[in-house]
Amino acid sequence: MKTADSPINAHSPFYDLAVEGVRGLRPYEPGKPVEELEREYGVSNIIKLASNENPLGPTPLLFDEIRREAEGIGRYPDDSGYQLKNMLAKKHNVNANQITLGNGSCNVLELIIRAFVAPQQEVVFSQYAFAMYFILSQAAGAKLNIVPAKSWGHDLDAMLSRVNDKTKLVFIANPNNPTGSWLTDNELEEFVKAVPANVLVIIDEAYFEYARYAKMGAEGYPDTVPWIAKYPNIIVTRTFSKAYGLAGLRIGYGIAHPDITDLMNRVRQPFNVNNIASLAARLALQDEAHLKKGLELNVNGLQQLGDGLSELGFDVIPSVGNFVCVDIKQEAKSVNEYLLHNGIIIRLVDGYGLPNHLRISVGLPEENQRLLETLGRM
Ligand SMILES: *Cc1c(COP(=O)(O)O)cnc(C)c1O
Repeated sequence: MKTADSPINAHSPFYDLAVEGVRGLRPYEPGKPVEELEREYGVSNIIKLASNENPLGPTPLLFDEIRREAEGIGRYPDDSGYQLKNMLAKKHNVNANQITLGNGSCNVLELIIRAFVAPQQEVVFSQYAFAMYFILSQAAGAKLNIVPAKSWGHDLDAMLSRVNDKTKLVFIANPNNPTGSWLTDNELEEFVKAVPANVLVIIDEAYFEYARYAKMGAEGYPDTVPWIAKYPNIIVTRTFSKAYGLAGLRIGYGIAHPDITDLMNRVRQPFNVNNIASLAARLALQDEAHLKKGLELNVNGLQQLGDGLSELGFDVIPSVGNFVCVDIKQEAKSVNEYLLHNGIIIRLVDGYGLPNHLRISVGLPEENQRLLETLGRM
């Protein structure tokens, strides 16, 4: 029996049954769960700095409310997402018919691909860009136009030069995961302006809240939602998984022109967002103090990790997310093993073509400290 993390087996009689794009795929590699490390390595007192989760978790307002909401889980949720969409519409100053709710924002990305990309059509994205762009596009049979990165980030000029008659859409992660690199409002708007109106530009802002806070006071990191009025071919995606601490409930959203939103909704599975996730998102939006606490913790954590890793002689890519990508100047796999034996889960990025880098999520101050000390003892 093949499990999800076993290698592709081209000798299986079922291999040829798969659609072509899927045959060329490997499953997404998530950060190792704490329980798995406990089971496999027999270590305890584990810290996980691997999946860019909020170390504070969600708003504590949530827990009593979840109990109440749970009484209703015998019924399907409100498929229209009325309450949450209206809250988001107000927050972003758009209409509710511009919002698509998803089972995580990856679900929204999937809807975009399903609605707009046919086999052999092209999608453009950057080297080192978030892995789901590759997986979703490849599975759809699209032709992938992957553009070499510039100083770890998106090379927008080169990306623009790759846009042609067959291009359906361009993915931009701002900031990007796993590198943490970001694009400023000027450079991104120049790019969006230059892309033909019949090519969609997906702007993935999974770390928006972190990036905005990290750049506070400095010009630079854009909120692209207001751009939709000017450039109706952009789709902005956001998530509750990161700064709002709701990764386990799977909820995110997209904002776009109402007609684009309508098309995406035609391929959306009914009830793709569950009652509890929807409630949690609404409460998360109401607890700004909790959000702010996490953002402040993150800014300090970025500094702590950045300084500490530099002192160890490693090269840290500047980041405005809640993680750093660091060149540890040696094969990361063995360093990862060492960290796992010491109860620390971080993320390898060799799958991205970065075999000497680690991606480390910002944790609580004492967790960051333990990681730095453990690396220092190596
Ligand atoms: C984490 C992440 C997402 C979203 O994840 P969901 O949990 O599906 O909302 C999207 N894009 C990037 C770049 C991410 O890092």
